[in-house]
Amino acid sequence: MPRLPNDCFSSPEDMISVEQARALITEKTGRIADTEFVELQNSGDRVLAEDIYSSFDIPPADNSAVDGYAFLHADYTAQQDRAFNVAGRSAAGEPYLGELSEGYCVKIFTGASVPVRCDSIAMIEDVTEAADTIVLPAGLALGSNRRHAGEDLKTGALVLKSGTKLRPQEVGQLASMGHHKVPVFRRIKVALLSTGDELENPGDNLPYGSIYDSNRYMLLQLLKKYGCDVKDYGIIRDTFDTLRDAISDAAANTDLVITSGGVSMGDEDHVKAAVEAAGDLHFWRIAIKPGRPLALGQVGGTAFVGLPGNPVAALVCAIQFVKPLIARLSGETFPKDPFALSGKAAFSMKKKTGRREWLRGRYTCNENGVGKIEKFSSEGSGLISSLVWSNGLIELKEDTSTINQGDNLRFFPYSELFE
Ligand code: AMP
Ligand code: MG
Repeated sequence: MPRLPNDCFSSPEDMISVEQARALITEKTGRIADTEFVELQNSGDRVLAEDIYSSFDIPPADNSAVDGYAFLHADYTAQQDRAFNVAGRSAAGEPYLGELSEGYCVKIFTGASVPVRCDSIAMIEDVTEAADTIVLPAGLALGSNRRHAGEDLKTGALVLKSGTKLRPQEVGQLASMGHHKVPVFRRIKVALLSTGDELENPGDNLPYGSIYDSNRYMLLQLLKKYGCDVKDYGIIRDTFDTLRDAISDAAANTDLVITSGGVSMGDEDHVKAAVEAAGDLHFWRIAIKPGRPLALGQVGGTAFVGLPGNPVAALVCAIQFVKPLIARLSGETFPKDPFALSGKAAFSMKKKTGRREWLRGRYTCNENGVGKIEKFSSEGSGLISSLVWSNGLIELKEDTSTINQGDNLRFFPYSELFE
């Protein structure tokens, strides 16, 4: 299995922008996942591991786009009365195999092969039907309602590139080519740990001074959406020894170790020392809010990301930086940029320039297609209720200093960020 190169996350000296951080992540890491084959029906959301070429034309034969009558256009123009004898029928899966002579047509159904000596199809609704004959309407063009062999895919065409994440339509295209086993990169294994002596698992008692661990459960769902095979390492007590042992064990068994909390350099924050003892750790200063310096490192060939402890910061940093890292490690070559919606600010505020900010927002679009963007009333980075209230993130650019009600804003729905 390919591993990450040594100390690939060594930190840039200066404060860097979001784009620089993402570009560095892409540049310094690569695919670590091997190829495996999955059944076609399980290939959705997986990353394709080979280029796929079509080995035959699709559709394989000319066929009809409608229910109606197939005929030869030259006969149609030759006959004054446009009357045809009906020689037989061609249904989907039951093609007409007889030979046609002049003045004969074949009743045909959608998807059925166009009989030899026919080149056009009249829609049933436009045809006057009698016992054994029919009369075609005037004005039919050559090739009407005929789908051509190979009009979807030509033999030998490069259909899907290795590194493509398979959406429902790509799975449909693979099915149309007859693939039933699909080469994909295996899911990357991600270890998830929470650090903090104040944390308890939901279901356990909550002593005075404690809180329930929410990050691990939230991040677990996110990582599953990102296609990871998540191994839950639970809550690790904030001591150097327990953290070092847990992180070393996690790194030995997975491709990426993600922790939350414990990286803020306080007396009780031992993640830094623990990762440094087992491997390398660097603090990237990225010009963003929320989020402290992002801890990136590696233990052996396994990547390490230390997310902030505050749930809002943990989620935002995971979306902005862990998502592209996962795409990279998983072998995704064309990760799509999330779509932004445009809308008008329903609030006013001031902002520090020189950093990018993400606010928890709620987007609605009125019947005239005008989007409105509200922001959560408080900016507290510990408020999970703000994440629950919101349906996406408002992105404020580095050079923005004031937002006035009615200004145009960029809004990223969670549906895009969680893909
Ligand atoms: P830390 O980075 O460890 O100093 O944590 C910053 C804040 O996030 C503190 O208020 C922690 O209690 C809180 N926090 C840390 N980890 C979690 C977690 N897993 N779930 C919820 N809150 C957390
Ligand atoms: Mg802590």
